[in-house]
Amino acid sequence: MALFGKMRAKFHDDWCEDCLEQMQTVKKQLFFMPQSVGHYTRHEDAGYYIKNLVPVEKKAEIPTGMYACGMYVYRCMSCGARYVKLTPFLPVRDAEKNELPLLFMKGELDALVDGR
Ligand SMILES: [Zn+2]
Repeated sequence: MALFGKMRAKFHDDWCEDCLEQMQTVKKQLFFMPQSVGHYTRHEDAGYYIKNLVPVEKKAEIPTGMYACGMYVYRCMSCGARYVKLTPFLPVRDAEKNELPLLFMKGELDALVDGR
């Protein structure tokens, strides 16, 4: 059973890697990301997002042809660990183009989650 739990944890971003339990979503936020259609560059460093993401209320605030980025904050109720998932996407009316999500598990994005 332990092996099953471990495998599941790998495939689910919202599972605590240490406790092998599903975490609670404690915050969601949408951001404007200053990248334009056709020129998407994936950044792995948290600093890029802390510096460049601008919080917005809704998708309608994203200018046409520009990227948005969703943020999901997960907290493990057993050990208190906090993971942050970023989901960059291009908002298009009928078919959103989703880029590969990023998962930060060591507090790299605390400045973005808790405010600068
Ligand atoms: Zn945990």
